[in-house]
Amino acid sequence: MERYQMLIDGKFVDAESGETRPTFNPATEEPIAEVPVATKGDAKRAVEAARKAFDSGVWSGLSPKERAAILYKVCDKLKERDSELSRLEAMDGGATIRKTTMMDVPVGIEHFRLLVEMGEKIPAYEPLPWVDFPYVSWNFVNREPIGVCAGIIPWNFPFMMTIWKVAPALIMGNTAVLKPASDTPLTALEFARCAMEAGLPDGVLNVLIGAGSVVGKELCTSPLVDKVALTGSTETGRNVMKMAADTVKKVTLELGGKSPSIVLEDADMDLAVDGALFGTFFHAGQVCESGTRCFVPASIYDEFMARLKERVGRIKLGDTLDFETTMGPVVSKTQYDTIMKYIEIGKSEGARLVCGGGRPEGFAKGHYIQPTVFDGVDNGMRIAQEEIFGPVLSVIKYEFVDEAISMANDSIYGLGGAIFSKDLPRAIDLAKRIRTGTVWINDYHLINALAPFGGYKQSGVGRELGPHGLLEYTQVKHIHVDLTQDRSKRFWYDYIFND
Ligand code: NAD
Ligand code: MN
Repeated sequence: MERYQMLIDGKFVDAESGETRPTFNPATEEPIAEVPVATKGDAKRAVEAARKAFDSGVWSGLSPKERAAILYKVCDKLKERDSELSRLEAMDGGATIRKTTMMDVPVGIEHFRLLVEMGEKIPAYEPLPWVDFPYVSWNFVNREPIGVCAGIIPWNFPFMMTIWKVAPALIMGNTAVLKPASDTPLTALEFARCAMEAGLPDGVLNVLIGAGSVVGKELCTSPLVDKVALTGSTETGRNVMKMAADTVKKVTLELGGKSPSIVLEDADMDLAVDGALFGTFFHAGQVCESGTRCFVPASIYDEFMARLKERVGRIKLGDTLDFETTMGPVVSKTQYDTIMKYIEIGKSEGARLVCGGGRPEGFAKGHYIQPTVFDGVDNGMRIAQEEIFGPVLSVIKYEFVDEAISMANDSIYGLGGAIFSKDLPRAIDLAKRIRTGTVWINDYHLINALAPFGGYKQSGVGRELGPHGLLEYTQVKHIHVDLTQDRSKRFWYDYIFND
């Protein structure tokens, strides 16, 4: 079994305590590798290394073009090893090889490249035309890196989340400390290898494997860290925000969701049914923006549900390393138990189980759960309000579109959502009324590196990706340049002089 080390200050090292733990394959429940368990001391050393690297100017002092040249080499290294990365991503987190080969790894690398390309073009100089008084003073903004940026990521998309945290931080001139989730550390460590092979200077990227309560806490409280970006649960987001408050760090939070898919009467039935199912069951529902509440009009309800039931039956659970498998297990026993608990809650709340609801037959090992659909769901039920983070869809019947929109918005979350309709102008009007950071029309889950992604309400703070996401890794400095150099023109100095 391979024993991994973590990256601190340009070196791959064990934890100072020497402690390690196995990481498991959720499909087989077998251990697949040993990883270090970082201590608070390890976290401090990583943060100090990132601080030193930032303050030295070895990275922030390079031009965007010079930084990009190194980062493109990281992309090339990742690409050379894409099939190995896809396999590892599938084995560590329980994603299907179909998904990691088609999506996580190639799309992750593509996001990396696009973020670097975009970041490279963001000018440091930003004019302020409305306060430019050319004969008196010249005012402009200089975009600067923030400093040491910590990234704390979850287990659902370990490779993609690594890229979302590291690429924007580094291209904008910051240094980074990344903490993957303990269940899925491997592709982040492989990413670190590629980064060092590509010639990233020591300390610019550090990757720590350890507990949120130890390593995550140190990253959120250290006075040497300038920003924390978390993807994780809303509960962790609240904690991170509180911890970051003591040193007034910048935070970007991408948190939970309970996103709506709203089907309109005129929707293309094939597109809407498969879209709603893709929205929910992609990666066994372990996606923050999953469309876990599907609103269906009464007039087409029976036809929609008949078709939906038939299509759910086509989702194929199986060995994650088999290309034919379209849905894998959930990530851990803990997650499995939580989802099963919610299925029981749904039943006891009076929702009707349309299909699924338990372990599939023929799986002796692995945290597998059947794709599960409830109908007769009331939007006030716990299964419609709380994030389950598993393969469970709640179908809610509606009479009028206004009613669907108001139920869609009746949630503490506001991450994603979809509208299925042939009437695009109407769909766009409705999309504007949904209080979430992304709305897809006649599609789902298409996250684009060029467009901002993030949450309204308790789904988060700030944005990732796109120009908006890159700017969150910069500081805005106003520079005022007096152009007269003439004391006699300084009547405001006379606020303190009377001669
Ligand atoms: P989690 O919140 O438990 O953990 C996320 C990360 O935060 C992990 O690396 C964990 O170690 C760390 N962490 C936990 N407690 C911490 C603390 N007190 N201080 C600092 N760091 C801490 O979530 P999870 O179980 O890994 O992932 C599933 C959850 O993440 C889901 O609820 C989902 O809603 C959310 N999620 C959101 C998005 C998004 O983009 N909005 C994406 C993926 C997952
Ligand atoms: Mn694992």
